[in-house]
Amino acid sequence: MTTETDVVIVGAGPCGLFQIFELGLLGLKAHIVDALPKPGGQCTELYPDKPIYDIPAIPVCDAQDLVTRLMKQIEPFGATFHLDQQVTGVQKHEGGSFTVTTSAGTELRCKAVVIAGGVGSFQPMPLRVDGIDDLHDRCVFYRVKDPRVHYGKDLIVLGGGDSAFDWVLELAQHAKSMMLIHRSDKFRAAPASVAKMEALIAAGKMKFAVGNVVGFEAEGGALKKIEVRATDESLSKFDLDHLLVFFGLSPKLGPIADWGLDLDKNQITTDTEKFESNVPGIYAVGDIATYPGKKKLILSGFHEAALAAFAIKARIEPDKKVHLQYTTTSPIMHQRLGVKD
Ligand code: FAD
Repeated sequence: MTTETDVVIVGAGPCGLFQIFELGLLGLKAHIVDALPKPGGQCTELYPDKPIYDIPAIPVCDAQDLVTRLMKQIEPFGATFHLDQQVTGVQKHEGGSFTVTTSAGTELRCKAVVIAGGVGSFQPMPLRVDGIDDLHDRCVFYRVKDPRVHYGKDLIVLGGGDSAFDWVLELAQHAKSMMLIHRSDKFRAAPASVAKMEALIAAGKMKFAVGNVVGFEAEGGALKKIEVRATDESLSKFDLDHLLVFFGLSPKLGPIADWGLDLDKNQITTDTEKFESNVPGIYAVGDIATYPGKKKLILSGFHEAALAAFAIKARIEPDKKVHLQYTTTSPIMHQRLGVKD
C-alpha cells in the first residue's frame, strides 16, 4: 500500500528532524525514514553523552538532549516516523512526484524528497566468517528487535562496547546460558556495566572468553558451534543457539549513490538558495549536502532546512507567493504550532 504525503525526509539526524519543523511551519506534512531504530543520527549513535556548545542560544547540551529537544519541538506537526528501515529507492514520476521505497517494503508517494542522510546510513559491522551470512536473522543477529526471541537459548555475544554489554546484562537473566567473547579483555563499555558482568561471572551466571570467531558448524539451518581462536592461537569450540554480534556501526552512503544525483566526495551537490540537487524536487540538507564553503555543522544544516522548506513550499504551490512570517506574530503559524493566541 502506498501512503501519500507532501515530503519524505531521508534520515532522522538533527537536520532531518529540524526539516520536519520548518516544513510544518509552512503547513507541509512529512514522513521521515531512518535506517536506525532511534532518531538522532550521529548525535544519538556516536556521542549521546558529549556536550555540544555551538547550538545558538543553548550554551551547552548533551547531544542526546539536543535530539530530545528537537523531538519535542516537532511534536505539533505529527510527522510519521519509519525507523529501522533504509530508503532503498527513489523513483521520479512524470508530473514531478516521487515514490520512495524502503527495505521494510514501505512505499511513500510525495511531492518532494529531502535527503538528510548525513554520512550515510549506519550499518552494523559484519562478522567476517565465510558462509555465516546465510544464518543472518535466524541464528546470527546484529540487532535485538525482540528480546524474547533469545529467551531460553544458549547465547554468545560478541563485542566489547556498550551495546554488547547492555544486551549481555539484559539477556543473561533470561537465557539458558550466556557467554561474552571479545578480542581482548579491555572494553569500551561503561565501567559500571563491566563491573556488573564481572559480578555475573563470579556468580556463575555467565562466562567470558578472549578471542576471535574463525568458524562455525550448522545443521539444518541451525547454528550448533562456533570456533574461536584465542590470542595464543589455540582453537576452541563453543555450543550455542544464537550468536549476537555487536562490532559497532559504520556509515555507508549506500543506495543514495544510485539515485542519479550529482555527488562530490560522497556528498550531494546543491545550490545555496534552495538546497536542491541536480534532480528537481530532490533536496539535500545537513552533512550530506555540499556547496562552496560548506561546513559540516548542525547549525549549517538547520539553516539549509529552513531555505529548503521555503523552496519546497514554492514548488508544491507554484501559484502562491511564500511569505516570510514570524513565529512570534503569525496566527497561522500559531495554529500550526498549536499555540493559543
Ligand atoms: P546525521 O546525524 O549523520 O544523520 C543522518 C541519518 O540518516 C542517520 O541516522 C542515518 O542512519 C540516516 N540515513 C542515511 N542514509 C539513509 C538511508 N538510505 N535510509 C535511511 N536512513 C538513512 N556538530 C556541531 O555542530 N557541533 C558539535 O559540537 C559537534 N560535535 C560532534 C562530535 C562528534 C564526535 C561527531 C562525530 C560529530 C559532531 N558534530 C558536531 C557533527 C554533527 O553531529 C553533524 O554535523 C550532524 O549530526 C549532521 O546531522 P545530519 O542530520 O545531517 O546527519
